[in-house]
Amino acid sequence: MNILLLGSGGREHALAWKIAGSPLVERLYCTPGNAGIAKECELVALDPADHPAVTAFCKERKIDLVVVGPEAPLCAGIVDDLAAAGIKAFGPSRAAARLEGSKGFTKDLCQASNIPTAAYARFSALAPAIAYIRRHATPVVVKADGLAAGKGVVVAETLAEAEAAIERMFGGELGAAGTQVVVEEFLQGEEASFFALCDGESAIALGCAQDHKRAFDGDRGPNTGGMGAYSPAPIMTDDLSRRVMNEIVLPTVRVMKSTGTPYKGVLYAGLMITSAGPKLIEYNVRFGDPECQVLMLRLMSDLVPALLASCDGMLRNLDLRWYADAALTVVMAAKGYPGTYAKGSVIEGLDAAAAIEGVEIFHAGTLAQDGRILANGGRVLDVCATGNTIAEAQARAYRAVDRIRWSDGFCRRDIGSRAVAREKA
Ligand code: AMP
Repeated sequence: MNILLLGSGGREHALAWKIAGSPLVERLYCTPGNAGIAKECELVALDPADHPAVTAFCKERKIDLVVVGPEAPLCAGIVDDLAAAGIKAFGPSRAAARLEGSKGFTKDLCQASNIPTAAYARFSALAPAIAYIRRHATPVVVKADGLAAGKGVVVAETLAEAEAAIERMFGGELGAAGTQVVVEEFLQGEEASFFALCDGESAIALGCAQDHKRAFDGDRGPNTGGMGAYSPAPIMTDDLSRRVMNEIVLPTVRVMKSTGTPYKGVLYAGLMITSAGPKLIEYNVRFGDPECQVLMLRLMSDLVPALLASCDGMLRNLDLRWYADAALTVVMAAKGYPGTYAKGSVIEGLDAAAAIEGVEIFHAGTLAQDGRILANGGRVLDVCATGNTIAEAQARAYRAVDRIRWSDGFCRRDIGSRAVAREKA
């Protein structure tokens, strides 16, 4: 098979690494890719937003499967456009991608199907939204309806904060994403991420992970795309995983089918594990980044037949095998991230770091120039490791981090610490 992968982050490096290891693959291409992905496959210069150009490339190179990493092309309908040209693509249609593209759509779906989630109300104008929050308790959560690159959610401790957030959203700060707003109840509990592979009819579990969203140790500092993750999530017992499948994922797949927009692809459920059980915080319609990296390290089976089974509605016949090992990833970011940061600093020591047993380094934002690796983004490297326990994976990952010489980078030193404390207990 010839496969084209779309994306350029650590998630896509992990996917490229896994797909490149499949005996089914003849040629693997990635666009736009990065310096790490270039070691797994051939990079091509295409704009994923230019669907006709992607389609033309697929026809010319006889691409059998397109794998879409990020949400933006999915929400823009690239799977529909490729399908219309007779090209198979992994991921949801534009209509099904509304599970991530519109928070209000997902909340309404949950309410109509009794899927456990926070109580909420939807607004398309400022005054009723303000009136609503004045009648409700704080903390309260204010969300822009559309895709806002991680900037669309405000957990407001006070009424003043909530009002300011609503005013900013309706004031146009987030563009079209903020023309509708969801206000919802604040949920108390521990967060976990649950991944399922769906084929329009059924779904199979892909495992779970927990991530660290804040920039600095002790979960302090600004929100980021994710500074590290580990899998499995100790809080996700087998019983809880079964409940998430039966109470959240499978009902969603059934509704999406019955309304004529069957869901295919990875369904990533962001969960709050509350005292009343798991509740859905949000859906994403693709793998998480950096959660994908730890899931790929734990997957023993070939990924390609699983992606095909999702496209073809054949998941019923699929059985995935997983390593018992835990996996953990530490994100190394450019100093200043998630604010402003410089690009172009030199990174050394990657080979020595990767030589440590169980360690795999995925590139998130790098560029190769004159035989050197340069930082080329906010999140730059995912230093990953597997181990018998999360503690072992953590120790290996940080040993690898310590071999990397990059004066302009930083990372958190406490990724996985809560899980490690739990293992010790
Ligand atoms: P989201 O983009 O919807 O995943 O929200 C980003 C983060 O905001 C989540 O990971 C949670 O930490 C927090 N959050 C979102 N909704 C809620 C809620 N209803 N209750 C508590 N925290 C929330």
